[in-house]
Amino acid sequence: MLSLARGLPARSGCGLLTPRGTPVSAIPFDNSYAHLPGDFYTRLAPTPVADPGPIRVNYSLAKNLGIIPGWLASTEGTRVVAGNDIPQGADPIATVYAGHQFGSYNPQLGDGRAILLGEVLGRDGNRYDIQLKGSGPTPYSRGGDGRSPLGPVLREYIVSEAMHKLGVPTTRALAAVTTGERVAREEFLTGAVLARVASSHIRIGTFQFFAAGQKFDLLQLLLDHVIARHYPEAATSENPALALLGAVVSRQANLVANWQLLGFIHGVMNTDNMLLCGETIDYGPCAFMDDFHPDKVFSSIDHSGRYAYRNQPGIAHWNLSCLAQTLLPLLHDDKEQALALAQEAIDAFPHQFLQAHTRGMARKLGLAEITADDTALVEDLFQLMAEHKLDFTLTFRRLADLADKANLKDGGVGKLFEIPEALLPWLARWQMRLAEDTMSNSDRQASMYAANPAFIPRNHLVEEAIEAATKNGDFAPFQQLVDVLAQPYQYRDDLARYATPPEPHQVVRQTFCGT
Ligand code: AMP
Ligand code: MG
Repeated sequence: MLSLARGLPARSGCGLLTPRGTPVSAIPFDNSYAHLPGDFYTRLAPTPVADPGPIRVNYSLAKNLGIIPGWLASTEGTRVVAGNDIPQGADPIATVYAGHQFGSYNPQLGDGRAILLGEVLGRDGNRYDIQLKGSGPTPYSRGGDGRSPLGPVLREYIVSEAMHKLGVPTTRALAAVTTGERVAREEFLTGAVLARVASSHIRIGTFQFFAAGQKFDLLQLLLDHVIARHYPEAATSENPALALLGAVVSRQANLVANWQLLGFIHGVMNTDNMLLCGETIDYGPCAFMDDFHPDKVFSSIDHSGRYAYRNQPGIAHWNLSCLAQTLLPLLHDDKEQALALAQEAIDAFPHQFLQAHTRGMARKLGLAEITADDTALVEDLFQLMAEHKLDFTLTFRRLADLADKANLKDGGVGKLFEIPEALLPWLARWQMRLAEDTMSNSDRQASMYAANPAFIPRNHLVEEAIEAATKNGDFAPFQQLVDVLAQPYQYRDDLARYATPPEPHQVVRQTFCGT
């Protein structure tokens, strides 16, 4: 048995005292994954770092997890996030998984630079993983150092929290700390750790690991765990494995529709980066588009454009077929029938994606619904946006401004984005279509504002924040950016610079994996 508590008096652990003097854990753990058999993980503690320093704490998320934010921001909390102290109730593990990376199967991946501290039941009634990312080597590090430079930690903090505020299911950032250590990459970089929160970190790749090893008992255990945790309604279904597959297909269809509607490019949609719970994970080479083009790719390693914007729905569909494949032995005893059931479940994806995307486009364009007659209207808009390199975010936000000119405060984003002449005939068609719609102009504008953000984590702003922190130790731009992105749907003229597309010299053309 490993001794996990370090640097703390044995009597109180990392506990706090309640008013009655009873010690309680600073993090109210309630672990379940760590109670699965040892085949699912390796039990080990994070590797302590030289000199933990606080960067930021997510107060509202901490509160939901029953963690006192002030404690998390304190020296004690900072040491826990850095991996230097293990709080009472934690049961740290590195989980194992496999996965298709850029289409090639890798039989042995796993948490190579992350440790799952444990799970907590949130005040919202949901169960959450608390994971430390950048917490040192594990048996799954495959020669890597298990560490993370500061840049990728800040990037994940900014973008994952922005995604949450934009309304997209996502892993979240609970806290970030510096390690006081250098991380060796092409050059020496400041090290950092991110405390990440997810409904769970169970991936398609987790299923692939046990299916490839033909460990069908363990696969069944994993399935039962995921059903109990994320899809309890599937438990009472006639065929729980099939019900689960259908539900995952549906969540992923909605997720990727959300991405498309915001111009978000994930960049590394490997099967180990797709969660069963349907949250976005892995903010490595991701990017929001500035000017629209469906072929946009940012990731420096995505040479063939496999994960380009336009390919995202198709890739999600492909990844889900990998999941379906792992479930075949659990779907039916008869191989033919299992295959037919899996195929039918997977075939639902394109329709579900289209439905979610169409509903979202209706909201973006201020229409009660989009019918087959509107297809050309939508397609022509994207065509024009691509042809004239229009800013994805501001095009839609400006349409929301124009939906009710009478009610336009501060002129909206008019100073930042002028509708080009080439778009005027389309605008006239859209306005004619709006006239057939039943919504009032002010209701339409309100709902369009709620669907079309003014603020997204623009690449140049993310880079600017990272550069200030990594080059000058100045975290103010990072803090401000996270604050601004907390209200993405409320435009403020005094924050106009955060809604402004990059100048030509500021354009970011390439993003990198966070390793
Ligand atoms: P990712 O690109 O984040 O999806 O990671 C792919 C695999 O590489 C996962 O198994 C990671 O745990 C592992 N990995 C990434 N970076 C490191 C690192 N610095 N040290 C050890 N393992 C890593
Ligand atoms: Mg990953």
